Amino acid sequence: MTTIADVKDKGLRLAIDCGHCHRMRYLNIGRFADAALVEDLATDLKCTRCLDPGVSVIVIHRDAKTGFWPAERS
Ligand SMILES: [Zn+2]
Repeated sequence: MTTIADVKDKGLRLAIDCGHCHRMRYLNIGRFADAALVEDLATDLKCTRCLDPGVSVIVIHRDAKTGFWPAERS
């Protein structure tokens, strides 16, 4: 299990990934409580594009080779 505090401590970011339209957007981590579990966040979220509730919240790492954050998908 991963908490919001874990993600912050490691300097990682969170994104919402839609299983229906494949939109991927970074989430503002400041909106979640430090003790919240990443695994639980998707329950309260839905895709802002297609409104599908079948979204995942994923932890994103910088690309190891380029140092860039992966691009969002709209
Ligand atoms: Zn969607």
